[in-house]
Amino acid sequence: MSQVEPAAAGADQAGEGAVVPHDEGVGGGGGVATTEAQVAVAVSTSGDERRVEYGDDADNEGEEAATVQGSKEGTEELLRKVVYSEEAAYKLYCDYGHRMGFSIRKGKQSYFTGTKRIRTKDYFCSKEGLKEGEKLTDANFNDPHTRTNCRAMVRFRVNDHGEWKVIRLVSDHNHNLARPEERHLLRSARSLIAGRSSSEAMVYAGYQMFTKCIQGCDSETEFEETWAQMIHEFKLQDNKWLKKLYKLKQKWCSALNKRTFDGGVEYEPQCDSMSNIFNSVADKLTSLSAIAVAVDKLSEDWREKELEEDTRCLQKPPACIIKHSDILNHAAKVYTHRIYKLFETDFLDGCGATKFKELPCEDNNTHQFEMTMQGRGSRVCTECMDDDAAYCNYVMHYAYDLVTKSQGQEELRKALWETLENGEKELEKYLGNGTQYAPSYAA
Ligand SMILES: [Zn+2]
Repeated sequence: MSQVEPAAAGADQAGEGAVVPHDEGVGGGGGVATTEAQVAVAVSTSGDERRVEYGDDADNEGEEAATVQGSKEGTEELLRKVVYSEEAAYKLYCDYGHRMGFSIRKGKQSYFTGTKRIRTKDYFCSKEGLKEGEKLTDANFNDPHTRTNCRAMVRFRVNDHGEWKVIRLVSDHNHNLARPEERHLLRSARSLIAGRSSSEAMVYAGYQMFTKCIQGCDSETEFEETWAQMIHEFKLQDNKWLKKLYKLKQKWCSALNKRTFDGGVEYEPQCDSMSNIFNSVADKLTSLSAIAVAVDKLSEDWREKELEEDTRCLQKPPACIIKHSDILNHAAKVYTHRIYKLFETDFLDGCGATKFKELPCEDNNTHQFEMTMQGRGSRVCTECMDDDAAYCNYVMHYAYDLVTKSQGQEELRKALWETLENGEKELEKYLGNGTQYAPSYAA
């Protein structure tokens, strides 16, 4: 039986010894030969094709697959879309393939150095490669189970933010594509439906949307829309945890914090820490119920550690490195020892390395300030202040300076106070107001 295994979800191609690599194969059937690499080709179903070369260096971050012109909607969507997991990437290409009329198999992947995090992942047309010992004939060439050394493929690359984007697309096939009425019979379409329980698919879709809410939205509107869509689609209107989370959205939604000065504290993407948790308890073959049990056990361990930390914290607060800092003292009161130490390190680093300067503004009525964390790159926040606020600021500094100068010398303090009181009297006289607000120093 020479039938090739269906490209079931989770199955990798690596084990299939019967596949002849591309370069040894014969381009059968008089199909369109595709240049091996770095060519993004968009082919409409009518066979009209356009190619865009985008350089030799496939690892160049600047390379843009999305510049293909004149492609059909589906191809454009595939090139534009950002997904957040291997499963979602596979599904995206499957959806594309089924619309076009071909089936998909999973290809090789590369990892970020020293990690198990996927960096690139290839997916092929299921007729990729050649089957050993199988002769290509006119009769079997367009049989769905025959491998024809088709080179159609897609390559996703994952960036540091966990975003999966298409960086290479070869959309020429050297065989006929399935007609619309045959498409539901495509292998990967069937395995997508059969090989994956609907609950599993739901979990992935929900997880993807949730991740997008946390860090994948560019604007508040996009965040609100995605959140509403997630609540609606998964019928989560009554979920207390999500309701509470939504109230705290300012604290965790990246789209709402674009203008917040974060002092350069490294932001650990939620999806990374989430996937680290899941990677530690499960792999591709772990069943959903086994994952649930493992996560349960893991959270039990966490609760135990929390309890230990609680006990430790109740005994005495952490020792502050600066005795009279209100901020540190407050942090020592509200944080656990461990979190306090993290906070203290960042706080001290921040104190010593923050630079503050006024920027020239286009109109003369506003004042803009820039805060920079030295040594931590470009985290900058600018705030505009209008003229009144700037004047106020200036006067307060001036007054503060005078108070400081007069410190410790009774005569000077008295003189300053009298001057201020006189100033106040003059003001009130001018404003026609009899009341005097400052309590007299002399009294
Ligand atoms: Zn193909």
